[in-house]
Amino acid sequence: MSFLYYFYTMLQVKNISFSYETTPVLKDISFSVRPGEHLSVIGESGSGKSTLLKLIYGEHNLNQGHIYWKETEILGPEHNLIIGYDFMKSVTQEFDLMPYTSVAENVGKYLSNTAPNLKKDRIAELLHIVELTAFSKVKVKYLSGGQKQRVALARAIAKQPKIILMDEPFSHIDNFKKQSLRRSLFRYLKEKNIACIVATHHSEDVLGYADTMIVLDNAKIMVNDTPNVLYNDPKNRLVASFFGEFNELEKYGIIYANQLKVAEKSTLQATVIQSYYKGNFYLIEAKYQDNTVFLEHSHSIDKDQIICLSVVKNNL
Ligand code: ADP
Ligand code: MG
Repeated sequence: MSFLYYFYTMLQVKNISFSYETTPVLKDISFSVRPGEHLSVIGESGSGKSTLLKLIYGEHNLNQGHIYWKETEILGPEHNLIIGYDFMKSVTQEFDLMPYTSVAENVGKYLSNTAPNLKKDRIAELLHIVELTAFSKVKVKYLSGGQKQRVALARAIAKQPKIILMDEPFSHIDNFKKQSLRRSLFRYLKEKNIACIVATHHSEDVLGYADTMIVLDNAKIMVNDTPNVLYNDPKNRLVASFFGEFNELEKYGIIYANQLKVAEKSTLQATVIQSYYKGNFYLIEAKYQDNTVFLEHSHSIDKDQIICLSVVKNNL
């Protein structure tokens, strides 16, 4: 192993396989994570995202392979009685908070009490990041699901771990809050060089934030690349569907709805089925030969109208 490889890799997942019962959930999975790297894990429901995070956290025994944190091997409960490490925090779907104590106390649970003022400042900083300053004194049992999720996130970053595992971290948080929370949380992790592995099925959690993306399918890693490569060159329908409405056209391959435009003249002619209002555009559903195609357009188009289509790819 070269020095550089060692230096840049903190977490190393090497050929791991796992099954709860007989069906393999993960087969021969390998990847690594560098300091401060943001890795997204995507895949359909049941593809093993949560299981992968649990294995990295040492919650289950591997059937095969190894997981290393630097030179330390992460072992499952069979070989390691206490689950959990200082360098690694995990935010799961079960928030595991103390319901009868305040938001501030929950966030500060693992912080040292030796310097009360420092602790107070740190809690204030954390509450600011997850936008819960106004709820500092409120008992957790009175919070909504989304607010509890934010308390769990704040608690996980409280002691500045080196890596944080997040399982669908914004699933309970409404859109209104999600946008700014995502920005402030991921910016904070980058600033502090804290790596994260985020299991998600929302492309907005990935595009704009992730350095690397792993797609799980059929118990294997289907692709491991940057969001840009995956978006611009989706290997198959599963990857494309993650990013939005798309078409699979002979000759062109996979084309997103926003890459199919209405043209003056074209050999691609389709009949409009329906227009859906999407805010800043209309999604047009149309019949092209035997296929249903989707395209984005600035106006709605009447049903049964014949339209000419062209493919316009503006890759960033
Ligand atoms: P994801 O998070 O991608 O939705 P999971 O890791 O939760 O996927 O699940 C992967 C597969 O493992 C699914 O088929 C699921 O039913 C199964 N599974 C998950 N947890 C358990 C468990 N505790 N016991 C048995 N099977 C499980
Ligand atoms: Mg899951």
